[in-house]
Amino acid sequence: MRYASTMPSLAARDTRCIWHPFTQMRTAPPPLPIVAGEGAYLITEDGRRLLDGISSWWVNVHGHCNPHISRSVAKQAERLEHVMFAGCTHPPAVELSERLLAKLPPSLTRVFFSDNGSTAVEVALKMAYQYWANRGEPQRRTFVALKHAYHGDTVGAMSASHDSLFTAPFKPLLFRVERLGVPRDYLSSLDPARDGTASERLAEFENLLAERGSEIAAVIVEPMVQAAGGMLVWKAEMLRQLRRLCDQHSLLLIADEVMTGFGRTGKMFACEHGPVEPDLICLSKGLTGGYLPLAVTVTSDRVYDAFLGKGHSRTFFHGHSFTANPLGCAAALAGLDVFDTQGVLARVSEIEARMRARLRRLVGRRFTHDARQIGGLAILELQTERGGYLADIAPRMGRAFLDRNLLLRPYGNIVYFMPPYVVTDREIEWVFDQIEQVAEEVTGLR
Ligand code: PLP
Repeated sequence: MRYASTMPSLAARDTRCIWHPFTQMRTAPPPLPIVAGEGAYLITEDGRRLLDGISSWWVNVHGHCNPHISRSVAKQAERLEHVMFAGCTHPPAVELSERLLAKLPPSLTRVFFSDNGSTAVEVALKMAYQYWANRGEPQRRTFVALKHAYHGDTVGAMSASHDSLFTAPFKPLLFRVERLGVPRDYLSSLDPARDGTASERLAEFENLLAERGSEIAAVIVEPMVQAAGGMLVWKAEMLRQLRRLCDQHSLLLIADEVMTGFGRTGKMFACEHGPVEPDLICLSKGLTGGYLPLAVTVTSDRVYDAFLGKGHSRTFFHGHSFTANPLGCAAALAGLDVFDTQGVLARVSEIEARMRARLRRLVGRRFTHDARQIGGLAILELQTERGGYLADIAPRMGRAFLDRNLLLRPYGNIVYFMPPYVVTDREIEWVFDQIEQVAEEVTGLR
C-alpha cells in the first residue's frame, strides 16, 4: 500500500481533542481521514480516491502534490526555513515580489507579506485607514463593501463581510460599514431570463458619495465573484463603474482576490476582466499553489509614500511572525513556474468552455433555479428551499456526492464545482453527471 502509515489509523483514534472549523454540532459527522493527495484527488485512509471538487477550500490550483512545487519546498527547507522579516530579507521573498509585480497592473508596486487571506484583507483595511490619517484626512474612516461580501474571519475582515451566522456573535465588536447591493442588472447568469444587462447605474453609490464622499476611506470588493456570499458572479461593467466613481472621489479601491486570484475566473486576476487597476489587492489561497499559508497585500507608490516619514509617526505597525515565510515563497515561486511554463490559463479556458456547455444544458431543467459560470468555477442554484448556508439540503447533497467519491461542499441550495486545473475533460463530464443525478435525487425534480 503506497500510503500505508506506521501510525495507528485515524479512524481508530479519538480525534475529539481537535477543534475543527464549523463542527461543534453534536450530530456533526467525524472528519474525513485524508492521508494523501494526487492531482485532482484526495485519498482517504481506507484507500478511496475522492475528486477534490472544491480545490480544498479554493486553495489548490495545480493539483495535489505537484512534483515541481513539492521539490521546490523541500529544497528551500534545506537552505532556509524561516527568518523574521522585520529588518531581514531573503531571496525567495525578493524573487516572488518581482515576479508577482510583473503579473500585476503597473500601478501596483509595493508588496506587503502576511500569512492568510483574512490577514491580507486586514492589512488592506488598516493601510487604507492609516493612509488617510497620514495624509491629514482622518475623517475618512468609513469603508464601503458589497452586500453578501465575505472577506475573512478576523475582526476587520468580519466587519467588511456581510452580517451572517459567522459574524452574528461578534456584532458589537465590529466596525460599521456602508453596504452597496450588487444591482440585479449586474448579476451574470447563463439563464437569459436572469442575466443582467449592466445598464443600471450605481445610483445608490453615487448618492452615498454625494452625501458623504469625504468620509469614505475605501471601497472593498471581491471582483467578479462574491464567493462565500453565494457564488454570485457579477459583471465587469460594475467593476469599471466602481473604479470610475472611486477615481472621481479619490477613494481607494481594494480588490480582495483571495479566492479569485491565480486563474480562478479565467484571468490571472479577476480585475483584468474590467480591466481595472485596484489601489490595493489581497492575494492568498492559490498564491502558493495551495501548499502553504502565505498572503500578500500589494499596493501603489501613492499609498506607500504616505507612510514614509522621519520618525515613526507614519509607520505601518503590522507584522506577523511568519511574514514572508521562505517555504511559502518557494511554493509560490514554483506555482508561478507552472503558470508560466504549462499553459495553465489556456487550460482554464478549456475547462470553462466544457463547464459552460454542461451547465447550459441544466438551464431550464425543473431542478434549476439559476446557473452561473466564470473561469474554472461552475455554479448550480437549485430550485428548492432557501435555508441559507445551513440549509439541510447541503449536508444531504454533500453526503450523496461523497458516496460517489466526489468532494463538494454545497452552500444551502447552491452547488458549485471549482476543481484544481489538472482536472481532465472526462472528470469534468463525470462530475456534471453526478451533480445532475444528485440534483434530481434531492429535489425530486427532473
Ligand atoms: N477573502 C475572500 C474573498 C475569501 O474567499 C476568503 C476565504 O475563503 C478570505 C478572504 C479569507 O481567507 P482565509 O480563509 O485564508 O483567511
